[in-house]
Amino acid sequence: MKQTVSQGLSGSLSFNEQGFRKDFNLGVYSMALDLGLQKIGTWSPATKFVSVHARPAAQGHGLDDYEPRDVNSSMLTITSILTAPFLMRKAPKSGEPPLMGKNKYEGYSMDLATELAQEVGFDFDIQLVKDGNFGSRDPINNTWNGIMGELISGEADLAVAPLTITAERERYVDFSKHFMDLGVTIMIKKPASQRPGVFSFMEPLSVHVWICIIIAYITVSVGLFLVSPNYHNDFSIVNSFWFSMGALMFQGSDNCPRSVSGRIIGGAWWFFVLISISSYTANLAAFLTVERMVTPIDSADDLVNHPTIKYGALKSGSTLQFFTHSEVPVYRQMGKYMKSHPEVLVETNEEGIERVLQSKGRYAFLAESPLVDYRNNRLPCDTMSVGGNLNNKGFGIATPRNSRLRDPVNVAVLKLKEEGTLYTLYQKWWVEKGQCGAMQGNKARCRCHSVTWPVCSTFSLWVWCCLFFLA
Ligand code: ASP
Repeated sequence: MKQTVSQGLSGSLSFNEQGFRKDFNLGVYSMALDLGLQKIGTWSPATKFVSVHARPAAQGHGLDDYEPRDVNSSMLTITSILTAPFLMRKAPKSGEPPLMGKNKYEGYSMDLATELAQEVGFDFDIQLVKDGNFGSRDPINNTWNGIMGELISGEADLAVAPLTITAERERYVDFSKHFMDLGVTIMIKKPASQRPGVFSFMEPLSVHVWICIIIAYITVSVGLFLVSPNYHNDFSIVNSFWFSMGALMFQGSDNCPRSVSGRIIGGAWWFFVLISISSYTANLAAFLTVERMVTPIDSADDLVNHPTIKYGALKSGSTLQFFTHSEVPVYRQMGKYMKSHPEVLVETNEEGIERVLQSKGRYAFLAESPLVDYRNNRLPCDTMSVGGNLNNKGFGIATPRNSRLRDPVNVAVLKLKEEGTLYTLYQKWWVEKGQCGAMQGNKARCRCHSVTWPVCSTFSLWVWCCLFFLA
C-alpha cells in the first residue's frame, strides 16, 4: 500500500514511511440541524486548520501594489466623500480670499478628522475620493472602487467618511470601532397633510359607532313612548324623540318620564349619553389638534407590495449589498428588484434625495439613517423616513491593512466617544443645524385655525336644512 499513489477526493492518496497519509487536504464542515452542512475551512498537515473566513493574504488586486505609505511623516492624506452633513464645501465669506486645502471643507467628518489629528498627533490634507463612490468589489476581477479602492492601493492613509463597516470590507482594510451607530431606513416624500373636510366632525367615531348611536336613539325613543301610560299625553312619539334628542345634546327637555319604567329607560339613556359624548369630545379635541398624515407605506413589506412606488439605493455602497445578501426574504426580494432595475440606483446620496423630492411620492430612497435624519430636518422639510431602521450597523475610520495608524486611531475613536466629543459633534451637525422643528410647531397650531372652516360650513348646512323644513 505504501507504494500506491492515486488521486482521491481529498488530494493524492499516498503514504509516508510510517504508513501515515501525506499531501492531503480535508474540508472541515459544520453540521447544524437548522443550517445543514456548511464548509467552515480546510485542514492539511502542512497548513493545519484554515478558516474560510480568513483574510486574504496581501495579494489580489490592489494589495499587490500596496506599498505602505510613510505614515510617520506628519502630513497624512485623508480620503473622504462629499455628503451632507459629513463633508460639505465651505463658502468663503465675502471679501475674503478663496479657501485653500482642507479649509475648503466643513462638516462632521472634517471635525472628526481634526479631533483625531490632535489625539494621534498628525497633520492632514483632505482628498475627495476621485470616483465619488464609497466602495464595492467587482467580483469578476476582484477590484474595489471608491474610498475602499484608494485605501487598498495606498493612495490615502486614512478614510474619515460615513463608510460602513462590513465583513467583506474588513477583509481588505482595517476599521476602527464604530464612531456612529445607524441603520438603513426608507426615505419618502412627506404626503400633503390632510385638510379637514365638511364631515370631519364624524371622524372621531367609526361609522359602526354612529350607526349604533342612531339605533339606540330610535330604540330608546320608541321604548319611552311604549312604556308611557296612554292616558298621559306628554310622551307622544314626537315628544319621546325630542326627550332623547335633548339628552343626547346635553340640553334636557320640558317633559320628563314619570313612570318607573320610563325613568329607568331615561336614566340608562342619560348614562349612555354621558359616556359616549364625553368620549366623542375628548377624541374630537385630539383629532383636530394633532396634524395627521396618511403615509402611503409604513414598512418594507408595504414598499415591496406597493404597485406604483419605486425604490432604490446607492449604486456602489453597502446598502445595496445589504439587500442583495440579506437572509430576510423581503429584503432579498428588494435587492433582486434593485439589481434587475438599475435605473432605480443612484450615484450619490444627494441624487437619491433629489429624486425623492422630484418624484411626487413615486420614489423611495433606501439610505442610512444619519443622512436621512439630517435631510428630514432641513428645508424644505418635505421628506420623512418610515418603517424605522431595517438593520444595525456602524461607520468606522478605515486604514489600509496593517497600517501603523490602526491602533492609535482606534484608541482615539474610543476616547472621543467616552469623553462625549462624538456626542457634541452629533449635536452640532444634526440637532443645531435642524430647520424643521419650529416649522412643525407652527403647522400644529395652524391646524386649529383650519378647523374653523368645517365647523362653520357644518353649522350653516344645519341652519339651511332647518329653514327648508320650516318653510
Ligand atoms: N455608507 C455606505 C457605504 O459605506 C453608503 C451606502 O451604501 O448607503 O457604502
